[in-house]
Amino acid sequence: MPEDIIRIGNVEIISLSDADLSFPAADFFPTVSAETWTSHRQYLGDDGNLHPNAGCFAVRSSGRTILIDTGYGPSLTGRLFDELSAKGVNIGDIETVTFTHLHPDHVGWNMRSDGGQTRPSFPRARYLMPQADFDFFTSAGSLENFPYIKDQVLPLVELGLVDYVEPETDLTPEIRVWSTPGHTPGHVSFLINSAGERGVILGDVAHSPVQAHETDWNPGFDVLQDQSRATRHAVFDRLEQEGMTIAAGHFPKPGFGKLVRVEGKRIWQAL
Ligand SMILES: [Zn+2]
Repeated sequence: MPEDIIRIGNVEIISLSDADLSFPAADFFPTVSAETWTSHRQYLGDDGNLHPNAGCFAVRSSGRTILIDTGYGPSLTGRLFDELSAKGVNIGDIETVTFTHLHPDHVGWNMRSDGGQTRPSFPRARYLMPQADFDFFTSAGSLENFPYIKDQVLPLVELGLVDYVEPETDLTPEIRVWSTPGHTPGHVSFLINSAGERGVILGDVAHSPVQAHETDWNPGFDVLQDQSRATRHAVFDRLEQEGMTIAAGHFPKPGFGKLVRVEGKRIWQAL
């Protein structure tokens, strides 16, 4: 049984699964033909669909507890709070919630209805957002396309709880914000460097282990298709070369693994 909690040096990473998603493969990767999928069947479910996990990660570093992404929220199964409690994370301990980007499966539990009132789900937290994503998702015309922003992002701004994360800054002495744009304009990953060990919270640089070798494949959800592909190649080349431990929220849970080369082909090797 893979572990839901791993350590990178002194940093603890806790995998949290909010929901199981399901998409026809042709919808998810619109440029990939049904014929191509016949030789990649192992990456699909028995029903022929892709089943990305809607994963989040809690990270304990330098005495702080940080939640990275808040899942899809109550409109799907939305089990994030059960997962937090089962894995020993007290929501009152979370002092920072940060986001890889502002798509709906990453901000879904920012606000929570409770007794007829809607409140921030993490009462002690400040919320860190990539500025370029905030600007993109709240720009003129965008709010009609992304209506969840009004419910899950703007109320936090009105309450004065939002700060903007700048790439290449440090969340803690062990966690650095890494600019990995393309999936969305301000998409970021998080590099962990502690006691000689290194890892990354990947975000949506990739959505399926098939992209370890089919690195050109872009989901239709990628906002900037060419930049997303270029970022994926650059990030995967670095992660493979440096042998980093990867936490990938959309890969099969718990989403921990490495990129390794076997007989010339780069593959995802789950921990
Ligand atoms: Zn996502």
